[in-house]
This record gives sequence, structure tokens and C-alpha cells, in this order.
Amino acid sequence: MKEYDVVVIGGSAAGLTAAITARRFYPEKKVLIVRKESKVLIPCGIPYIYGTVGTPDNNLIPDAVLEKNNIDLLVGEVTEIKKDDKTVKVSDGESIKYEKLIIATGSIPLVPPIKGSDKENVFVIKKDVEYLSSLLDKVDQSKDMVIIGGGFIGMEFADECKKGRDINISVLEMLPHCLMLVFDPEFCKQGEEIIKQRGVNIITSEKAEEITGNKKVETVKLSSGDTVKADVVLIGIGTRPEAEIAKNAGIELNEKGAIKVDRYMQTSEKDIFACGDCCEKVSFFDKSPVNLMLASIAVNEARIAGANLYKINRSNEGVIGTYSTVIGDTALARAGLSVEAAKKIGYDVVVGQAEAPNCHPGCMPGSSNLKVSLVFEEGTGILLGGELIGAKSGGELINLISGGISKRMTADDIATFQMGTHPALTASPIAYQISNAAEMAIKQMQVTNINLSS
Ligand SMILES: Cc1cc2nc3c(=O)[nH]c(=O)nc-3n(C[C@H](O)[C@H](O)[C@H](O)COP(=O)(O)OP(=O)(O)OC[C@H]3O[C@@H](n4cnc5c(N)ncnc54)[C@H](O)[C@@H]3O)c2cc1C
Repeated sequence: MKEYDVVVIGGSAAGLTAAITARRFYPEKKVLIVRKESKVLIPCGIPYIYGTVGTPDNNLIPDAVLEKNNIDLLVGEVTEIKKDDKTVKVSDGESIKYEKLIIATGSIPLVPPIKGSDKENVFVIKKDVEYLSSLLDKVDQSKDMVIIGGGFIGMEFADECKKGRDINISVLEMLPHCLMLVFDPEFCKQGEEIIKQRGVNIITSEKAEEITGNKKVETVKLSSGDTVKADVVLIGIGTRPEAEIAKNAGIELNEKGAIKVDRYMQTSEKDIFACGDCCEKVSFFDKSPVNLMLASIAVNEARIAGANLYKINRSNEGVIGTYSTVIGDTALARAGLSVEAAKKIGYDVVVGQAEAPNCHPGCMPGSSNLKVSLVFEEGTGILLGGELIGAKSGGELINLISGGISKRMTADDIATFQMGTHPALTASPIAYQISNAAEMAIKQMQVTNINLSS
């Protein structure tokens, strides 16, 4: 029987990062990754296979990183965890002994109970090279595509599938707006406008009732009774934790089927850790359960799990919720709480907004506008959330906002923080969006205070 100090199940965002972190913190330990697939996709790059990057093979996590970090790889499926004798059983029958185990088995797509979703040419988003290649063939032949789910993944797919193809694409969303689970309505409407300008048909406040056709899909029937023509349907409504082997091993799951972990990413078993989409998450703000599954969260948890295997070095403060996406050339991003989410938790909030070009002067080549909106707690002035729309540089600015949230910076801290600026790279220091959004919020807080005291 093979023996390893550390065995990691799963080789995507969480598993790979957990293994690399284990190697850094415990250089003397023997580390093995067991993963199902011979080629691992960059999960967040999947929509770009259908436009910008062209094929699944252009969207892979290189295995060179394993050799560089002296991590062994076994391609195979773990079918059983025997926690009492500290072994895992792999599909070929082989058993491997571990001292510490990390479960990073990720998530699998949700399939809604829509009649006809088993018809030919109906796809979900699997992280599987062959499956996604066959979807690519179908999209290339398609004239009418329907995407069920107007979240950021559905919108990215619509935008990418439109590139270089003469194809009708409809995005179907049951909420009043696309992107609504992430952004405030103002930003959702702007996002919808941009994708409509790119020729995508947006259908909101409508559910897919049935997928019809003989063997292959022909239409999607909506809750209103209308039908939309379709030769390919893509269902992108989310994922659920893949935690079957953990459950069968008697490791505790929560009511949503995710592996329960403490703040050190330790499961109900002392020597078994979990990270990524397969494990439960709580909010940074009120520690309530959070359903969010993002690669950035998975990697953050993996850095904690890998570091804590033999000694507690790091702890998890909970999920801030930092997303970014791009529609056409416009970035949309959010970190932390929206106004609505903050009020739901019980915060009184003040919002500050600022908009400026991301270069200065604004006539610099490549310059475009970036609008930032920040949400602060009334009274303390602590930053709770932020969202932005505009220039692609917003993809990095949102991370700065997320950092500010995690360090509980106040509006005053943000208004006076020392940024670096450059005409070709950033907004002008005078118009720097996050500082000015903070100033706008401070102004409002002062007005509110005056009103309160008068
Ligand atoms: C289309 C799409 C776009 C996305 N875009 C973004 C984005 O822009 N930004 C972002 O932050 N997030 C994005 N996400 C979410 C992100 O992909 C996930 O949060 C991330 O993949 C989670 O990583 P993970 O390692 O936990 O799980 P997964 O990526 O699901 O990987 C799980 C791994 O475990 C392996 N495995 C499972 N069971 C076994 C077993 N029994 N034996 C052996 N191996 C096993 C799998 O084969 C796989 O290697 C996107 C997701 C999708 C689908």
C-alpha cells in the first residue's frame, strides 16, 4: 500500500492550492493529489472557450506546477474514505494511507426539474474537457441558443457564444433582472443594456416550464405560455457541493449537503480538512450560512486548510463575497454587502458614489469611465460593501475594496489612504473613485448627524 503524509482529493482551484500550501508550510511531508481528470480546466475560464480562447485545451491548469512543488499526482476517482484506518480507496482498487486528508471535491451542476431537460442538445456546465468540446461543436452549428439562468455565468456565456457567430441567443432569467443575486438593480439594468446592445435577447421574470422537441430540443416553453426557438439549451443555474464520499465516510454535512468545517477548515474528523465548493461557508458579516461558490473563496480556504494540517496557523473569517465579470468591454464587480443585504442584516447604511475616467486626462488612449458605489455603516463609517461598473481596471479595484472591507476600514480611512496614480494607469488622484465615493458618504453622514442633532 502506498503511504503519504498528506493526501488531497481534487486537483482544481482548492485541491491544487491546498497541496501547494501544505508543501510550503511542511516541506518535509510527502504530498499526493488524487483527481478524477487527466486534464484540469480553469473553471472560471469555461465561458471563454466559446469565444475568446477557442478550445478547452487552451483553458487548462498546467500540471508543471505539481512537479515544481514536488507534489505527486494520481489520476483516479476516490471511491471511499476509511477514516478509522486512515486510507482512501481509488477506483482501480488501490488503497492509499494518509496521515492528513484534505477533501476538495468541488461542486456539480444543478439540474432543475424541467420537463425535457434530458433531451439531446441540452447541456449543463460540467468541468469536463470532452463534454465541453461537444457543447462547442453544438454551439458552432447552432442558430438558436437559449441560456437558462441570467447570473454572471449565463451572461458570460451569452457574450462569448455571440462572438464570431451568426446565432440568436436568448438569456432566460426568472427574477426581474439578470445578475440580480449579485448587484443592485441600477447595475443590473446597465449590465442588461450592454448585453442587449451586443445582440443578445434578454427575457426576465419568466421561468422555463418545459423543453420540447422530439429527440432533440426544439423550443423552450415559458411560464407565460410563450415559446422560444432553440437548437441548443445551456442550463447555468448554479451548482451543489460534491460531498458524497465525505457523507458515506460519516463526516458531518450541513443541511445543504456541504461538508461542515470550523474556522480552521477542519471537518468533524480531526485529521480531515475540507476546502472549496464542497464545504460550508459563513458570512464575514454575521456568520450566517452563505451559498456562494467561487474559485477565489475556494483558494482562500485552501490556503487556510493547507497551513493548518499539523499546526493551527490561519483562520477563516468568513466570506466577504467578491465577484467580478465583464460584459463586452464593461466590467461589473461587487465586494461585500449590497444596500439591500446590509439592511437585511440590520445595518443603517450610507452610500457614496463617484465616477471618473480610469486614466488622466480622460483623452488618454484606452481611457474609459469607472463608476464606484460604496456602502458604509451609518455611525461607525465602516465599509460594508462596494460595487463598480465601467473600465476593466475595475477588476482589480474591487479587490482593493474587498481588502478594505476585510480590514474594516472606515470612510475616513478610505478618503485619506495613500494611493499611487499615473496618467496611463489610474484615475487622477483628485478624481480617484474610491476616495471620492468615501468623501461623498462622509458628507452624507455629516448631513444626517446635523439633522439628527437639530
Ligand atoms: C462557468 C463557470 C465560471 C466561473 N467563473 C468564476 C469566476 O469568474 N470567478 C470565480 O471566483 N469563480 C468562478 N466560478 C466558480 C469556480 O469555478 C468554483 O468556485 C471553483 O471551481 C471551485 O473550485 P474547487 O476546487 O472547490 O472545485 P472544482 O473546481 O469543482 O474541482 C473539484 C475537483 O475534485 C475532483 N473530484 C471530485 N470528486 C472526486 C473524487 N471522488 N475523486 C477524485 N477527484 C474528485 C474533480 O475532478 C475536480 O478536480 C465559475 C464556475 C463556472 C462553472
